[in-house]
Amino acid sequence: MIHVNENYSKLQASYLFANISKRVREFQQQHPERKLVWMGIGDVTRPLPEACIAAFHAAVDEMASADTFRGYGPEQGYAFLREAIAVNDFQARGADIAADEIFISDGAKCDTGNFQELFAADIRIAISDPVYPVYVDTNVMAGRTGAGANGRYAGLTYLPCTAENGYAPELPKAAVDLIYLCSPNNPTGAALTRPQLEAWVDYARRNRALILFDAAYEAFIRDPALPHSIYEIPGARDVAIEFRSLSKTAGFTGVRCAYAVVPKPCMAWTQAGAPVSLHALWLRRQTTKFNGVSYPVQRAAEAVFSTAGQAQVRRLTDYYLRNAGYVREAFQRLGLACVGGDNSPYIWVQVNGDSWAFFDTLLNDAGVVCTPGAGFGQCGEGHIRLSAFNSFENTQEAMRRIAAHLPVHRAA
Ligand SMILES: *Cc1c(COP(=O)(O)O)cnc(C)c1O
Repeated sequence: MIHVNENYSKLQASYLFANISKRVREFQQQHPERKLVWMGIGDVTRPLPEACIAAFHAAVDEMASADTFRGYGPEQGYAFLREAIAVNDFQARGADIAADEIFISDGAKCDTGNFQELFAADIRIAISDPVYPVYVDTNVMAGRTGAGANGRYAGLTYLPCTAENGYAPELPKAAVDLIYLCSPNNPTGAALTRPQLEAWVDYARRNRALILFDAAYEAFIRDPALPHSIYEIPGARDVAIEFRSLSKTAGFTGVRCAYAVVPKPCMAWTQAGAPVSLHALWLRRQTTKFNGVSYPVQRAAEAVFSTAGQAQVRRLTDYYLRNAGYVREAFQRLGLACVGGDNSPYIWVQVNGDSWAFFDTLLNDAGVVCTPGAGFGQCGEGHIRLSAFNSFENTQEAMRRIAAHLPVHRAA
């Protein structure tokens, strides 16, 4: 008899986006004339930078001729792209990362989800609350948790990110082995400072733990004091894997290109205490299970690091950050505290009270769709997430409507 992996049955259904769609559908059936503004979207809306499009087209043309055609490429990615990333994203910021420590992939979702395969079943895991659900669910599937209830799983160490701690996860009281950090954060938009990251690197070094650092929103950092890479912190090369993606940086959500940085000194240990290179394990894992990102996509990705590409990517992220700043300031004028929106496309608004009730108020009164914070974890309750992935005109319209209706809600 074929038996199923019963860990999958522990997964708590994420009703978040299904529930949002259902409420919106019902609202539109009752009010077909009302036009909604979507401010809950976690996907980009602007087209690819021109430099990427030109490189993409040229690479497709190469595939049309026998002289320049390319078949399977290296599983870890082409050297031209790994070099461009090492120089521009890391060495230019003083982070000591070499091209052969970079693994090109088709997404940071897959990379952050797959990396846990390298570790034993009984490691202790720390995860922020609220959280990007991929980190949790992939460990549930792998059997590293007990049962789930109320959005949490037995066996995981949750690190609350609340208004009290400035939405920055604090070091755990009980020892952990694997730590997931995301900065700038989805959903809160908060970014870890240099001292905060230093504390985590120090923790990992002292406990022989490992940090999985998700920097998918790095391109939105504007504060010059904030680190862009965990490798800007001395000692991080020994204890941290970093995940980057062109999805939010350059509008690649539909094109697919990301990269994982696995420095050669990063180790995990056997039961007997012998060190094992994570670079060697990840190389083995990727060459066995992955056949690389398509050649035209890697050429389009390379163009992100050209002079023109860098300027265009800056303009793209500036566009979203203008929306984000507009949303943040509008909420602050309404007297609601928020984080994010300055170094992140997300704004995390403190609404004090049931986040689904607030979602319903915004939908019914203002015709604006947001994302209720409770959908990202227990500590997300009392908050909503607003996204800057929209046109500036829609963003202005959403905030005009919210300002017109919110005082009614607050008085009620
Ligand atoms: C969007 C996002 C990613 C990027 O995922 P891709 O698979 O590269 O598109 C990674 N981490 C977080 C937290 C995200 O929000």
